[in-house]
Amino acid sequence: VLPLLDFLFKFLVIGNAGTGKSCLLHQFIEKRFKDDSNHTIGVEFGSKIINVVNKYVKLQIWDTAGQERFRSVTRSYYRGAAGALLVYDITSRETYNALTNWLTDARMLASQNIVIILCGNKKDLDADREVTFLEASRFAQENELMFLETSALTGENVEEAFVQCARKILNKIESELEGKAAKGGIGFGGDQ
Ligand code: GDP
Ligand code: MG
Repeated sequence: VLPLLDFLFKFLVIGNAGTGKSCLLHQFIEKRFKDDSNHTIGVEFGSKIINVVNKYVKLQIWDTAGQERFRSVTRSYYRGAAGALLVYDITSRETYNALTNWLTDARMLASQNIVIILCGNKKDLDADREVTFLEASRFAQENELMFLETSALTGENVEEAFVQCARKILNKIESELEGKAAKGGIGFGGDQ
């Protein structure tokens, strides 16, 4: 039996081609690494129900599915998104340098309020690292992003990235509702 949903959030996975976005989505949904021998065309959606702070939340996750190679990620892709994973590859400074452009697009085309978690993917390739943890965490702090290093290969921090982002969105919703309740006299069950 499916649980009753409390929320449905649209999530995006953005960042340069090759950073592991499709693999992160696959690892989150299937709990295993998407290996290259499987040459199917990228799926454009994935969805999963998670339980966060006692709420059932369905994440409907949009993958760029290769569009980013042609810099043709469309406005409709961004529209209505509540959260995003902004992905770079820790072994590629080029993908890190592109973050500012992705961030500008997300904030302009999705919403000023979109909750973004920065993911330094391919954490398992530490020997080839070109971007330090410290540098990226400073960037995250300056740009009000959450931050994790992930590995779609080992699965490390993959679930955490989606869940932390969803939790932050829920917190924002709750504090907005409480603000409205304080002004408008709305009460919550359990608050009495
Ligand atoms: P996308 O273009 O951003 O969707 O990237 P893909 O998910 O297609 O991955 C690009 C390449 O990086 C593929 O060869 C993957 O096997 C590889 N890859 C993705 N994530 C990881 C990871 O966490 N660790 C390692 N070692 N390789 C990864
Ligand atoms: Mg892809």
